[in-house]
Amino acid sequence: MPEGDGPSILVVCAHPDDECLGAGGAIAVHANAGIPVDVLCLTGNDTRNRELKDAAHVLGVRHMYCSFREDFDVDESLKREVVDAILLSRPEIVITHSPMDYNRAHVTCSHLVDEAVEWASHVTLYPDAHRVKRVYHMEINSLHSRPQVMLDIGAVYGRVVKALRKHISQMDRAGGYYLKFYDARTALRGVQSGCDRAEAFRIVLPEHAGPFYPKNATSRLV
Ligand SMILES: [Zn+2]
Repeated sequence: MPEGDGPSILVVCAHPDDECLGAGGAIAVHANAGIPVDVLCLTGNDTRNRELKDAAHVLGVRHMYCSFREDFDVDESLKREVVDAILLSRPEIVITHSPMDYNRAHVTCSHLVDEAVEWASHVTLYPDAHRVKRVYHMEINSLHSRPQVMLDIGAVYGRVVKALRKHISQMDRAGGYYLKFYDARTALRGVQSGCDRAEAFRIVLPEHAGPFYPKNATSRLV
C-alpha cells in the first residue's frame, strides 16, 4: 500500500523509455514537490527493465511495476494488471498514452487505462475500489493538435535527459533520435507556453457509469 494519504500519480506506459519521453518532466517535477509518482510499464525484458529502473531512480519514481511481456502481447487481458496497479498506488491522476498516437501498442495501452480506471472504481467488484479523478494523455512522437495543459519542466529538463540516457539500448537508434526529439518537442512546447521547456497533455475526465458510485449522487445538476 502507498505511504501517506496525499495525492499521488500513476504513469502507465507501453514500453520502457515512454515514461521519460512522454512524462519524464512531469514525474521529476512532482517527485521534487514530494508528490509520489509510480510507473507501470506493460512490456519489457531483462535489459530494458534494468534501464527502466535506472531511469526511474534518476526521475525519483516511488514504485516501479515492471513486466516481461513482448510488444505483441499487449492486449485487453492486461486490464486487470492496470486495475491492480491503480488499487495499490491509489493515484489521484493517471498519465498515459494518447488514443491518437500512431503506435498501436500506445493506443492499446490508452484504451486499457480508460477501461481499468472505470473498473477500479467499481465498489461492487473491489472492496478497496479507487476512483481516479483525471487521466492525462501524454505525447511521444505524435503531437497533440490541441493540448490543454503545458507543464513547465525547465527546472528538471537536465534530469530527464540524464534519465533518458539510462535507456542505453535505445539511445543510438537513428542517430540519437529520441534525445533529439525530446529536446525539440519540449522546446517547441516551451515556446508555445512562454517558458523554456514544457510537456503537453490532454485531460480526460473518466466516465464512471452504472449504479456503483455513491459519490455520483447529487441533489441538482447546476
Ligand atoms: Zn512506446
